[in-house]
Amino acid sequence: MNHELNELKEQILQCTKCELSKTRNRVIFGEGNVNAEIMIIGEGPGRDEDIQGRPFVGKSGQLLDKILAACGFNRTHHVFIGNIVKCRPPQNRVPSPSEAAICMPYLQKQIELIDPKILILLGATSLKYMVGSEYRITRDRGKWINHDGRLAMPVFHPAALLRNPALKRPTWQDFKNIVYKYRELVDPAHKSDHV
Ligand code: SF4
Repeated sequence: MNHELNELKEQILQCTKCELSKTRNRVIFGEGNVNAEIMIIGEGPGRDEDIQGRPFVGKSGQLLDKILAACGFNRTHHVFIGNIVKCRPPQNRVPSPSEAAICMPYLQKQIELIDPKILILLGATSLKYMVGSEYRITRDRGKWINHDGRLAMPVFHPAALLRNPALKRPTWQDFKNIVYKYRELVDPAHKSDHV
């Protein structure tokens, strides 16, 4: 990890800037390849993540890993996974606007340092806080959004797919489009058994 990102990590792991620091067990910095061209941005840690200190390790995370594998992507090489807030909101509630506003400069700095070409915005909260409350996940998923010179793709959150399997088909279409874009922008030879 480069020096600046390491310093940022040290800072984040000790952060007590918002109320979520009082109820968390672990701060989740994020994980993956710090040189990845894809950054996946979720809402915030849940119970399993708060215990293990890693992002997306519960049922949603397992589904995300399956989708990534079908695309020919994996966590260690192709993506870096982060969240809007780095500490678990109690009872997995949605992070408040003030918690997101306090925490998001860390995420913005991570994006700047990792410098990915593609952002995948997982679910309504990530979409709202990253690009604006005028966007709607049901209406805007699958559409590329230009975000500060990067391409951002909103997709349904894996937890929503677990609740409603009918969302799997459109989500798979969105991820196929992400693979096509990855080949166009990053690696024309990228291999996937399914796309
Ligand atoms: S959620 Fe973010 S701002 Fe709040 S304590 Fe955790 S790291 Fe700090």
